[in-house]
Amino acid sequence: MIPLSVPNLKGNELKYVSEAINDEWVSTGGSFINKFEKNIAEYVGVNNAVACQSGTAGLHLALTLTDVQHNDEVIVPTLTFIAAVNPVSYLGANPIFMDCDDSLCLDPVKLEQFCQTECQLTSDGLVNNNTKRVIKAIIVVHVFGNMANMEEIMNIANKYQLKVIEDATEALGTYYIDGKYKGSYAGTIGDFGVYSFNGNKIITTGGGGMFVAKDSEMADKARYLSTQAKDDTLYYVHNEIGYNYRMTNLQAALGVAQLEQLESFIETKKENYNVYKEHIQSIDGLDILNFNKDIRPNYWFYSLVIDESKFSLSRDTLLKKLEEKKIQTRPIWGLIHEQKPYQNAQSYHITNASIWIEKILNIPCSSNLTKEDVLQVINEIRNLK
Ligand SMILES: *Cc1c(COP(=O)(O)O)cnc(C)c1O
Repeated sequence: MIPLSVPNLKGNELKYVSEAINDEWVSTGGSFINKFEKNIAEYVGVNNAVACQSGTAGLHLALTLTDVQHNDEVIVPTLTFIAAVNPVSYLGANPIFMDCDDSLCLDPVKLEQFCQTECQLTSDGLVNNNTKRVIKAIIVVHVFGNMANMEEIMNIANKYQLKVIEDATEALGTYYIDGKYKGSYAGTIGDFGVYSFNGNKIITTGGGGMFVAKDSEMADKARYLSTQAKDDTLYYVHNEIGYNYRMTNLQAALGVAQLEQLESFIETKKENYNVYKEHIQSIDGLDILNFNKDIRPNYWFYSLVIDESKFSLSRDTLLKKLEEKKIQTRPIWGLIHEQKPYQNAQSYHITNASIWIEKILNIPCSSNLTKEDVLQVINEIRNLK
């Protein structure tokens, strides 16, 4: 069986988790939490990072700190995992769904068009003509480890007074190698950024996330909200409503060990990506989706792009046939504006995302995949044609 994306735990994981257990620090205090926060902050180049229970929790904190309230609106992509959108609903706010461009990330052209033609900039901020509600923020998702066009998106956000939350849950390690943001990591360009360490992400803590902020005080505020907003830890004084969102020391012990290996995971993923790319693009009707040229991607997910008119099998038939060969693949997510909870939400001219989701099959990409595994997947695909 060749799985799609599974954890790779061959480093210091067991050692550090054992240390945490030996020290009897297993809950939401302990040295590994501080260490993991410090190491992630250093790695992506920010002053302050906040470890939390999940990427979803981190996004919830980011929206809370953006002051998103009941009846506000937030611009979100429709092509994403739903966890990028649900925290908008937790706050009683409303998503407005945007299309993607050919990087699968938020389309800056349609974003600008929407702000320009469908909204009004007022003293309260950007107001949606259709609903008369205030739009507070944009959530940008760096899909599959690629990077959305942050230069354009930040310009638009500044022009229309919108905060930017980067859902970098899939893009830890991706950074610009060119342009205005050269050297900047995914998650550190907008106002807030969030990473995830769920089991299928590039590094894992079983479950977990990390919140980062441009403004270091905001990160302190996120840490405060993630630990029940305790203003006095002895007498338990609380001046705000907080959450139980803190990461545990056990998770952080895993995280410290995983982060030590991140660059080597990316190296392996890059090599495997290049093998797939080289062989697959010579098969008629198939290609592997490119990452943008101006970034060093983390190569998290590999997207097989199927042109059904040239390749003999449909995407779903290919999925089934590969499953019979014990190769796990997965179509892209269902678009979020079509999901039951969001069918009545506003969406803006979504066309490109609908086309892309029909054409993509994600193929095995784990960092412990060998070159032989990759060649086997390629051969099975070639033989099926
Ligand atoms: C994984 C993921 C999340 C959520 O992260 P969790 O840690 O699982 O809560 C959010 N957005 C996207 C795009 C993701 O892929």
